[in-house]
Amino acid sequence: MSNPSSTATALPPLQQTWDNSQFFSSSADPQIAATVEQLKGAIAQLTEQCTPFSLHIATASTLAPEQFDDLLQQVKTVHQQRVAILNRLLTLRNFIGSILSVDAQDAHGRKWQPTVQQLFAEVFQAFKPMEVFLLRVNDDFIQALIRDPLLAELRFSVEHERQLQDQLLSIEEEQLLAGLAVNGLHSWSNLYSQLAGTLQSQVNGESMGLAKAATLPGTDDRALRSATWHGIQSAWDSQANTVAAILNAIHGWRLQESQQRGKIRPLHYLDKSCHQNCIDRATLDALMEATYQRRSIGQRALKTMGRWLQVEAMQPWDLFAPAPTPGETTVLSFEEAIDLIANAFRRLTPAMGDFAVMMAQQGWIDAQPTPHRVTGADCSRFFDPCQPRIFMTFDGTLGSVLILAHELGHAWHYWVTRDLPLYQTEFPGTLAETASIFAETLVREALFAKASNPAEQLAIAWADGITAGSYLLNIPARFTFETALIERRKQGFVIAETLKTMMRDSWQHWYEDSLASYDELFWASKQHFSMSGLSFYNYPYLFGYLFSLGIYAQKDRYGEAFNDLYTNLLRDTGRMTAEELVQTHLNQDIRQPEFWQASLDIVDRSVSRFEALAA
Ligand SMILES: [Zn+2]
Repeated sequence: MSNPSSTATALPPLQQTWDNSQFFSSSADPQIAATVEQLKGAIAQLTEQCTPFSLHIATASTLAPEQFDDLLQQVKTVHQQRVAILNRLLTLRNFIGSILSVDAQDAHGRKWQPTVQQLFAEVFQAFKPMEVFLLRVNDDFIQALIRDPLLAELRFSVEHERQLQDQLLSIEEEQLLAGLAVNGLHSWSNLYSQLAGTLQSQVNGESMGLAKAATLPGTDDRALRSATWHGIQSAWDSQANTVAAILNAIHGWRLQESQQRGKIRPLHYLDKSCHQNCIDRATLDALMEATYQRRSIGQRALKTMGRWLQVEAMQPWDLFAPAPTPGETTVLSFEEAIDLIANAFRRLTPAMGDFAVMMAQQGWIDAQPTPHRVTGADCSRFFDPCQPRIFMTFDGTLGSVLILAHELGHAWHYWVTRDLPLYQTEFPGTLAETASIFAETLVREALFAKASNPAEQLAIAWADGITAGSYLLNIPARFTFETALIERRKQGFVIAETLKTMMRDSWQHWYEDSLASYDELFWASKQHFSMSGLSFYNYPYLFGYLFSLGIYAQKDRYGEAFNDLYTNLLRDTGRMTAEELVQTHLNQDIRQPEFWQASLDIVDRSVSRFEALAA
């Protein structure tokens, strides 16, 4: 691979600590207090500008054309004002977030965080009347709105929301429901969080909180993995009836609500979830069907792991076991990692490689291990000017190179959409991982090609195996369980024993003989099932993984032309459905299994590589 070293030497050195001082000098910057005061004033003004919309909500569906001009003018004023507020507020939030990532105890950061959260709640509350108005007003008004050049950017979001217009209740009922949900529906997930936070598990005679115990499944000591897993199981088993009550309450509420909303047109719970994720039901069906047909890929990955671990049969506590030959892989410096990633990105386009280097030169990445930083990794952005930031802790291992590549993919997504209006740069969960997994795939391929000894190749192949098992078996099993739970709940209360059987059956359906036993308490130990805000939290991850690989699969077919197509696709992720995106830019139909088969072929090849190493 050629290295543009002659120009690189003249450029600024790479930074491993970020510099956000162009926004505020520090968390003690008096400008923060001044900004908060200005925002409070602006939000009060916004509230005033939006109040008149409440008066039009009741008659919105029969609004006369003579009233259009006046109201369009008001929509424009409110929209411009809210974008200005959100740009400043998002930047402030990102700044406070960046401070707290590096030092979770920063006193000023901790003081400002709730203030910023409160301002967000107020700004969304402020434009709610206009939002409800736009949801209920007649189509003619919306057509006029879209024709207005200053409001055309709202087309996708407004039209998308209005597809469920017939699911709206009366204004009074909506208010009542939202009010009751605070202490009804949402209290159940609070109860779950409380339980998870206080529950103690016994591991080898030691009592520990679940958060600490959760770090142990990645240990290479199999006996300890087993002890931890069993400790966590019995902790949750002692609360099984409570968690069963939580799940029954949440799903009972949802069923009742959708019955009320579906009086004109009954809406299937999966259709609702697809709408939230900007995909078609036919797409979800094709995805799940194609994945089920190829479930043996994930099963082969687990069996290969079992052979390396020299265990008779894989157990649920082995799913995250580390590769059995640690210590023999190269440790990379941050500079080497950026160089490796940039070169892998350059195989797609030089601009993406240069971008990775620029992120580090500009001080837009914070990756230096320091004492008080939080765990985990994320990519966020400042607005106005739109600039991505990456937070992670880089330790030179293969895992952290892949995390860096993943986050740089997110950053690239933000970067290629930086000139778009704010309301076109919010991506649904299904599409949010497109660029990150794509970037990760480029780097995985480069790493494997570069691996100089079998231990390094195994480390990469092992990571591929764990990924295949999680995405192709574990996430689908959650989907199968949740679907079964909803159907069962329609008949009445589902007791803990039945939930155990249902979870066992769901695992059996996907894992079959690749595991010797199944996690029958997974419905209790996995928080996702008890989250009141959203059902089917998990399949968007499977979708994002295979969607990104499906786009990657088109790379060679389009050759030189691919990068422009890919960039344009990324630019449209906040203003098209997933089907439109792929049809428009790659001329493929994701409602057909062929698209998903091509993604699964890529996973199949990586698992075959893993098997070949084991042989
Ligand atoms: Zn991600």
